Amino acid sequence: MLHVGLFDTNSERHLKLCKARSGSSGILEVTVQIIVPIKQVPETSNVKMDPATGTVIRAGVETVVNPLDLYALETALRLKEKYGGSVTVITMGPSPAIKALKEAVAMGCDRAVLVSDRKFGGSDTWATSYTLAQAIRKLGAYDLIIAGERATDGDTAQVGPGIAAWLDIPLATYVAKINKLADGVLTLERLVEEGYQQLSVPLPALLTVVKEIAAPRLPTLRGKKTAKHMEIPVFTSENMPIDPSFLGLKGSPTKVVKIDTPKVTRGGRTALANDDDAVGTAVKQLIGFLHEKGLV
Ligand SMILES: Cc1cc2nc3c(=O)[nH]c(=O)nc-3n(C[C@H](O)[C@H](O)[C@H](O)COP(=O)(O)OP(=O)(O)OC[C@H]3O[C@@H](n4cnc5c(N)ncnc54)[C@H](O)[C@@H]3O)c2cc1C
Repeated sequence: MLHVGLFDTNSERHLKLCKARSGSSGILEVTVQIIVPIKQVPETSNVKMDPATGTVIRAGVETVVNPLDLYALETALRLKEKYGGSVTVITMGPSPAIKALKEAVAMGCDRAVLVSDRKFGGSDTWATSYTLAQAIRKLGAYDLIIAGERATDGDTAQVGPGIAAWLDIPLATYVAKINKLADGVLTLERLVEEGYQQLSVPLPALLTVVKEIAAPRLPTLRGKKTAKHMEIPVFTSENMPIDPSFLGLKGSPTKVVKIDTPKVTRGGRTALANDDDAVGTAVKQLIGFLHEKGLV
């Protein structure tokens, strides 16, 4: 195994440009070490908030792997299949979040890590991304971190970019296609409003991916057996290098001042139309209504 890399001792940052192994042909083949942060979220899209604390009510709600994280997992597994390497899945959450990790292992991930401590409770996206970044540092060298586009409960899409900022590595969001990995550089396409933006990103880097990148696979029976017997290490505030003032609710700069559920106060107006004549009448009615309100 040959590791090609560059170590900047001044910043103590591992600028690993490429990790390669020598195949039987003697030709260097690239391998990628990938980390996928996933979040366990309530199964329902109808997330309820505690008005007193401003946090999500999780008690008594079935949980699943954040559906958008399945695309990150699939992307990582395909890269591993193409280039060799490993996929490590990581989540920060209470101990039941192990269920999400085991599902990812059943899909084909090689390693899983739970980041869990009472002190992490109440973290906002800043503290969450800090804690996850420190856990990733503890894991050691990596080439790629692939996160979901956003979580279906918190919905901020901040944690992936936050991790990249804490680790000081390049970031590409809304990645829709990966074209090539060569010489430590990933060429990819980002989904942007006007179409697709092509980028070359030096590794190590963090990507957040959108749905169109790949259709997630189902867990396999073999994967489920592996997951069942896998020991999952727990990273806590005691066994990670971590600044205690950056943790949990106390370390979170975001304060939820008030939570309001918007009330629908307007009844709306409906014009039913089942055939061509009725469509004409309905359109006239709606235009009349807009004139009446002074809107056109
Ligand atoms: C003041 C405040 C207090 C809060 N208190 C709590 C609390 O007590 N308990 C609680 O659970 N939440 C709490 N939250 C919400 C919590 O901050 C967010 O759920 C969390 O930071 C993730 O943000 P998000 O859901 O918007 O994820 P996004 O940023 O939308 O997620 C994007 C991607 O980041 C990754 N990711 C996100 N979260 C995690 C994670 N935990 N582990 C691994 N990968 C992840 C996934 O790949 C995901 O697809 C609080 C938020 C605030 C503002």
